[in-house]
Amino acid sequence: MILHAWPAKAAVLVASAAMVLIRAPHGQRSRTVRVAASHRGRLELALLTLASIAFVVPLVWVTTPLLAFADYPLHPRLFALGLLGLALGLWLFHRSHADLGTNWSITLELREQHTLVTDGIYRRIRHPMYAALLLYSAGQAFALPNWLAGPSYGVALLLLVACRLGPEERMMRERFGAAYDAYRGRTKRLIPGLF
Ligand code: SAH
Repeated sequence: MILHAWPAKAAVLVASAAMVLIRAPHGQRSRTVRVAASHRGRLELALLTLASIAFVVPLVWVTTPLLAFADYPLHPRLFALGLLGLALGLWLFHRSHADLGTNWSITLELREQHTLVTDGIYRRIRHPMYAALLLYSAGQAFALPNWLAGPSYGVALLLLVACRLGPEERMMRERFGAAYDAYRGRTKRLIPGLF
């Protein structure tokens, strides 16, 4: 069975809006705390820009016919799997924002009075927000029947996360020393108990 594209379009719109709405209050609150140190290099800036563009590509697919040449038929099982990824990703995104509080930054930064969060969802893995974004973008790749708009955000995020994990952990170690080493010793990066 093949579905029409409109359920995928509706899902992309709702999920993207949810993402923006979940982040908005946390982003606003974080901006009230001054940045004490920025570790944002050129590569980080380039990858962050790429990820922002890749986030918009699915919305271009929803609202214009520009990417229609790369459409393929929507299969219900893949779509259901995609919805699950989107929903789980959004839940984890909300949890990690709630637990990270004003320590959140869109890039590699330390804020004034930065605290090391090791509780809540951060007790399970060190990078729940990146795990959330990867889950979300994998869900989008399955739910969105277009070879370009489907995987675009996931590919950009994979690059960003792969290049950021090392520098981010070095930055946290420099700031929090033994406490971060101990935290790193008892947690994995993205998948509990595995990786
Ligand atoms: N990598 C984390 C956080 C993403 S936001 C995650 O995926 O959940 C990126 C910023 O969060 C970094 O610049 C750093 O300042 C901050 N950060 C990362 N891990 C943290 C932690 N355990 N406690 C407090 N701040 C953290």
